[in-house]
Amino acid sequence: MLEVSDLAVSYGQIEAVRGLSFHVEEGQIVALIGANGAGKTTTLNAISGLHRPRRGVVRFRKSEISRWPAHRIVGAGIVHVPEGRAILARMTVRENLELGAAANPARKATPAEFERIYRRFPVLRERAGGLAGNLSGGEQQMLAIARALLAGPQLLLLDEPSIGLAPLLVREIFNIVKELNAEGRTILLVEQNSQKALQVADYAYVMDRGRIVLEGTGQSLLNNEQVARTYMGGSTG
Ligand code: ATP
Repeated sequence: MLEVSDLAVSYGQIEAVRGLSFHVEEGQIVALIGANGAGKTTTLNAISGLHRPRRGVVRFRKSEISRWPAHRIVGAGIVHVPEGRAILARMTVRENLELGAAANPARKATPAEFERIYRRFPVLRERAGGLAGNLSGGEQQMLAIARALLAGPQLLLLDEPSIGLAPLLVREIFNIVKELNAEGRTILLVEQNSQKALQVADYAYVMDRGRIVLEGTGQSLLNNEQVARTYMGGSTG
């Protein structure tokens, strides 16, 4: 579904991503894990058109999208939930959702879709008229995901959805990720919480300093001593 070949992305002199190649098959949850600064966010930004690659090709289904503007990439079905959630704090919850619905130039979310979103996230219905900035961290993450869903994703890019959340909410977010995938959405997940990410991932890539250094099924990387030591603060036991 998504194929990234020899991707390189720079910020001025800093090469954040250097010759990255990986792919995501339709229906999968694929995780990108790795230490701070490994280039995971930069990779997602390059796929969704927020940052232009210096080199390389991103192919989605049959199209080469590497030079497309972001709105056209959303129109093709790739929707990005960015790091830090990017909630518009001084707009209402409902207005944030409407922005998601308007983000895809190729389709319009129906009232039935809003209803489905409110049924899935009842707290967003309760708080629909309130300012998004007054939501808790976990509620804001749900709003960010709900907003992305209203843009009609086939491939959802999730950047650190569990960051800063209490353990119970982390579990809830990962349950939502699994449910969205069970409903047929393909997911590319960037996470610092490597253990949780590997538990839900069909396949995963480990990034280090802008490159992929290891890959395998979620389960095989969970059992990998090197991954356990470097990214999960311990051994596989
Ligand atoms: P994190 O989990 O900390 O977000 P990451 O794996 O997502 O880490 P990136 O945020 O993609 O990593 O950063 C990759 C490299 O690019 C780092 O060295 C970072 O300092 C650098 N970098 C990221 N954004 C910028 C920017 N806007 N300007 C300059 N350098 C940047």
